[in-house]
Amino acid sequence: MIVSGFCHLARSSAKHDASVELLLDGRLRIMTEQGQQELPLAELEISEPLGDLPVKLVFPDGMQFIPHDSRLLESALHYRQSARLHRVERSLPLIVGSLVAMVLLFVVFFTHGIPWLSGVLARGMPTQVSVVVGEHVLSTLDEHLLDPTELSIEQQASINQRFTDMTAQLPQLPVPPKLLFRSWGAGPNAMALSDGSVIVFDALVDLAETPEQLDSILLHELGHVQHQHIMKSLVRSTLLSASVAVLTGESTGLIDTFSGAGVFLATQGYSRSAEQEADAYAASQMKRLYGTVLPMQQMFRLLNTTEGNGELPEWLSTHPELKSRIEALTE
Ligand SMILES: [Zn+2]
Repeated sequence: MIVSGFCHLARSSAKHDASVELLLDGRLRIMTEQGQQELPLAELEISEPLGDLPVKLVFPDGMQFIPHDSRLLESALHYRQSARLHRVERSLPLIVGSLVAMVLLFVVFFTHGIPWLSGVLARGMPTQVSVVVGEHVLSTLDEHLLDPTELSIEQQASINQRFTDMTAQLPQLPVPPKLLFRSWGAGPNAMALSDGSVIVFDALVDLAETPEQLDSILLHELGHVQHQHIMKSLVRSTLLSASVAVLTGESTGLIDTFSGAGVFLATQGYSRSAEQEADAYAASQMKRLYGTVLPMQQMFRLLNTTEGNGELPEWLSTHPELKSRIEALTE
């Protein structure tokens, strides 16, 4: 499309007839009495039309072009925008690339940055915090989930004695360990709290065929205490919620859903690696104390037979993937 108008040469008020033509390759041709030149649109300064002021093209050498009909030039310039769109389409790989890079950055931040920071913060946390948190969690569990043990006083005393003798032989733990007995309808299990409490459930005591088998699970729980997994995951989930809030600002329903899933996945990934660390701790202490991990493998097999009864809520299932863990121990 050719748009006619007039031009002012640089530093001159004289008007000359001129016309411009937008070429298909995104260049503009200007034809004047002196001749014609072509240049990329990008090198032109295009004044936005203000009220009744006409659109004006300013060339790099200072020459100005003013069309007779501003609307005609404006509609011709729409081509410029579609040309820009073409460029964007051509740079699609670039856009996809940056998106992928951004997603990777977030993933690394959530999978490595936050766990690392949680470790640093949890290690720097005063013991008093772990104790207060542990006590609070225990009273909540007692209130809503756990029942008093039904084990005999003698049975408790003998397990407690083994626990005391065993922990005396362990490298110093971040908080002094203690053993608690409770009853829980959700099957054989044990759990560690941040204050060093190891809670063993009646069903686990009943399931163990030898004292060493029970020791292996207690050692696994002490592995969680040794690595401060409880405080780390508490700090971590706090950091995750805070980061998600910061990253999303005012969150909408969709973002809530996505970030909720992200938080869940990240937490799950962490707890799996925590289980492996606790297993490794238990296995190495079993070897040191008893010269074998066999009781631990036997105990895992016993637990495996009780898994999958559907009684254990997933979020409370602290010992997932028993099968692969038995295999890991065998290696
Ligand atoms: Zn565990």
